[in-house]
Amino acid sequence: MSDAEPAPEQLAPFLIELARSSRSKCKVCRKAIDKGAARIGVLLEGPFGTGYLWHHIPCLARRDFAKVEEAYAGDYTAAGVERPPLDELRGLHDEAAKKKAEKQDAPFVERAATGRSKCAQCGEPVEQGTFRVALLRKVEFYGQVRHTQVKVHPRCVRGAVRSEESGTSADDFAARLAANSRIAPAEVQAALREIGAL
Ligand SMILES: [Zn+2]
Ligand SMILES: [Zn+2]
Repeated sequence: MSDAEPAPEQLAPFLIELARSSRSKCKVCRKAIDKGAARIGVLLEGPFGTGYLWHHIPCLARRDFAKVEEAYAGDYTAAGVERPPLDELRGLHDEAAKKKAEKQDAPFVERAATGRSKCAQCGEPVEQGTFRVALLRKVEFYGQVRHTQVKVHPRCVRGAVRSEESGTSADDFAARLAANSRIAPAEVQAALREIGAL
């Protein structure tokens, strides 16, 4: 640290600047941040000292959009930094959150947020607002069997679970569905009635 650096207690909570070297690593993707690339620092005051944790701006937006929003709103950006627009970053975050939600363990039931998805069993669209059930399907990939998540109509669950490529068993189906679903228990029960006996 040169004498020109502010004392730690004067450090701002955020710093958006161009990386001064290629030595900093992004705390999200763990890759080096190239010299001259925009980076965002989040001040960390810990028992071992005070300093910035560095991130690529899109990486931090994916993980913690509120922090990026806060940093953008304040006067924390060094001169000459071209920042990605906040709207684009919000899009990245929403996409990442959606991907994370898709990792929810199957079987589970949810309400279709849009009418754009198609049932993996019958191929018909799943109407917006109706129940959609996530199941596992076996997919062979270079000789290796993997499970991929598919979404089906409640009325198509029986056929999907009984098919040869099903990766979801009918045993304890209702209990597992209830445990994995994020909608209200009464909703899950309503969905189970639509699913019917397996
Ligand atoms: Zn990164
Ligand atoms: Zn269907």
